[in-house]
Amino acid sequence: KPDVCAVAALQDDHSYRLADLLIPNHYNGTLQEVLVPGGLIQDRVRKLARDIRADYGCTTIHLVCVLKGGSAFFQDLLRCLRYFHEFNDESYVPFTYDFIRVKSYVGTQSMDVKITGGDLKRMAGKHVLLVEDIIDTGKSMRALLPVLRKEGPKSLKVASLLEKRTERSCGFKAHYVGFSIPDKFVVGYCIDYDEHFRDMTHLCVVNQEGIERYRS
Ligand code: 5GP
Repeated sequence: KPDVCAVAALQDDHSYRLADLLIPNHYNGTLQEVLVPGGLIQDRVRKLARDIRADYGCTTIHLVCVLKGGSAFFQDLLRCLRYFHEFNDESYVPFTYDFIRVKSYVGTQSMDVKITGGDLKRMAGKHVLLVEDIIDTGKSMRALLPVLRKEGPKSLKVASLLEKRTERSCGFKAHYVGFSIPDKFVVGYCIDYDEHFRDMTHLCVVNQEGIERYRS
């Protein structure tokens, strides 16, 4: 069985018209297109939860949400995992969880990361699953994972809602990926542009007006 699960790849020209879906009024004029509607995200997260259940069986996992961008994906994933508990049979995944914030910056030699929040010591001996919003170049994850590995988790995997197809990729692959997307700047579903757009249900692409309106 491959270590990395199958990805839902959205084609380069894939998009939905803004006029066909509900977009909050306060974002009128700031978006180019809808890339992934909220309903499709929900369906995909349900499938990822099933993949996670198939891989971990009854083993307890320690989910670590990377704030703030990963928080909607994290909450929806938890809801799906809890749903499995209701059947009270052997096919479910017990879990504990924590939250961290990660700042990446380019050091003298390579990229360094600063982790705040979370009780990293609690990772020791656990099956840790990091829940992230986007893998873009993959450099943040490349820098973060060795730091977390030092805490001695029994296993360490990454679930990312999105993975960009970009030439800038360092080759990092998450174990669970919601959607492989074209190289566009996306917002919504808790993923922000300078703290805006987190309150939007769909994943959308910002236009130039949006970039300018919310530039800090
Ligand atoms: P990487 O190190 O993989 O290049 O960067 C990952 C981080 O960059 C993500 O966790 C996210 O915070 C930010 N990022 C990358 N692409 C996008 C994007 O399209 N939209 C937003 N809002 N953030 C992005």
